[in-house]
Amino acid sequence: MMIAISATAQQTFMYQASTAQVVLLSQGQRQSGLNILIGATPEMIAHVAPDNTYPSATNAFLIRTQSGKNILIDTGFAKELFACLQEINVSPESIDAILITHLHGDHIGGLTLEGQKVFPNATLMMSKFEAQSANENTLKIMNLYDLDLFDPNDQTPTAVFDDIKAMANYGHTPGHTIYFIDNVAIWGDMTHAMAFQMPYPQVAVTYDTDPNTAVKSRLSMLEYLVANHYHVGGMHIAWPGMGSIKEGEEGGYVFNPF
Ligand SMILES: [Zn+2]
Repeated sequence: MMIAISATAQQTFMYQASTAQVVLLSQGQRQSGLNILIGATPEMIAHVAPDNTYPSATNAFLIRTQSGKNILIDTGFAKELFACLQEINVSPESIDAILITHLHGDHIGGLTLEGQKVFPNATLMMSKFEAQSANENTLKIMNLYDLDLFDPNDQTPTAVFDDIKAMANYGHTPGHTIYFIDNVAIWGDMTHAMAFQMPYPQVAVTYDTDPNTAVKSRLSMLEYLVANHYHVGGMHIAWPGMGSIKEGEEGGYVFNPF
């Protein structure tokens, strides 16, 4: 059984899964504009964003496992990340691993502060395909850490660290990866505009490296997650950043926040 245990304070939201605690580290809530959307029709806009905005956020997640491990999934931005970790009394030294969904700046910004490594005991893990796409600056940051690259399956989640599993979800970036703990899937940037991409998963965004592949990956992953009764969390889902999903109308989906 799973219950949401608390919305403790301003920046963190804790969710108790069957063997692990999943903590949302919120690094900003905002209304975003339509200019990043690809394929949003006037009818869609009138339906879900009549004022031409939709709620968005920047999030990272902390997983606290039964075996006592602290695992970050992405880092957001440095300053904001540390404020979140301070709020729940988690020190940088106590982070055992950092699992990266993809190498965009709003996901790896917290790996360093003023060029210095900030998680001295953490292994940095990501898909080998994402690592191959790193530019020179990103490689410099990655090389500050012990790197552990894996080859994620795109059909079923496979174990990568402790009880956390990974599954490939390409399109947003060449190695974009979704992580699973118990029955929670942390889907990174599989969505940027929930208001559009739940009822209309065929809408892409200009940030997608390959928008067509991103749409295909989103459609098959949504089907997989609903069929397997996963709850979800995402890096750009507005507070509390997690919830449940079900099938909606005409190939669309419905998200219910916790
Ligand atoms: Zn991204």
